[in-house]
Amino acid sequence: MSKKVAKTEEAPAEAKTEEKKPEVKPQKTEKPKAEKKHKKQKGVHSLYKVEGEKVTRLHPTCERCGPGYFMADHHDRYTCGHCGFTRYKRA
Ligand SMILES: [Zn+2]
Repeated sequence: MSKKVAKTEEAPAEAKTEEKKPEVKPQKTEKPKAEKKHKKQKGVHSLYKVEGEKVTRLHPTCERCGPGYFMADHHDRYTCGHCGFTRYKRA
């Protein structure tokens, strides 16, 4: 009884020569954008008040960044979104 066993030729298991790739981190991991609710956008117009020909700025400007950089109005402080400067309101 000589049963021929079909030789299953497998690829020789050679030591895999994996190329060492430098781990490249993805530069930006974009977050899945959540559906934005339509908000009423606050534009710069909310920072100005026009009275006739006079324009008054309702928000204080950043001391560090200079005029042109408005500070956000919080209940107890003003903050600059540009440099992070915080100025506390005086009670
Ligand atoms: Zn600033």
